[in-house]
Amino acid sequence: MIPWHAIDTVLLDMDGTLLDLHFDNYFWAEHLPTRFAEHHNLSLSTAREHIHRLVAESEGTLQWYCLDHWTQLTGLPIAALKAEVAHKIQTRPHTLKFLQFLRAQQKRVLLITNAHRDSLNLKLACTDIAPYFSAIISAHDYQAPKELPQFWQALAAAEHFDPARTLFVDDTPRILASAKRFGIAQLLCITQPDSQRSANSCADYLGVADFDEVIPGVSHE
Ligand SMILES: [Mg+2]
Repeated sequence: MIPWHAIDTVLLDMDGTLLDLHFDNYFWAEHLPTRFAEHHNLSLSTAREHIHRLVAESEGTLQWYCLDHWTQLTGLPIAALKAEVAHKIQTRPHTLKFLQFLRAQQKRVLLITNAHRDSLNLKLACTDIAPYFSAIISAHDYQAPKELPQFWQALAAAEHFDPARTLFVDDTPRILASAKRFGIAQLLCITQPDSQRSANSCADYLGVADFDEVIPGVSHE
């Protein structure tokens, strides 16, 4: 399904692609509203509505991914609150097997995430994925999220890769669309980013629920 012989570089998203998005969804829908309600003496439903509205207002912007911005908006130490529920940070099924496959195939593998460095560091500390990357890039390093062409221009200037021989894997169709506009030849969408929620449709992209579907020689149902 994936033409591995035509790929030298693999660019991988983190949240919802390598790691279970359940952590992030739980944090924003449950943990943060709970702490926000306690701190500001609100009902949980009022706090939940308030956080939900703030999330919806800035989704997809670099600020939305910035923990300092959320600390300012909520009056709460967001990085510390994330650490309180760090036990929920998990790799998705077959993530490590997929990373081992890419290493065995001698592909150049880069992690490219919109996550803030504080969030990124917490997740790397809680999982075994870090050694598999030749570079780990936060969009905050380039001051532009993956949704914008500036991100891809900065990535191309900093890291040597041929877009025509590159695969990019992400769980967010608007980000895959941004990579496509830049000219990344191979795109793969993860349809089941959150283990606790139902699968998404992936619009125009090749989609898989699980990495075992793209590792040659691995049987799956
Ligand atoms: Mg993602």
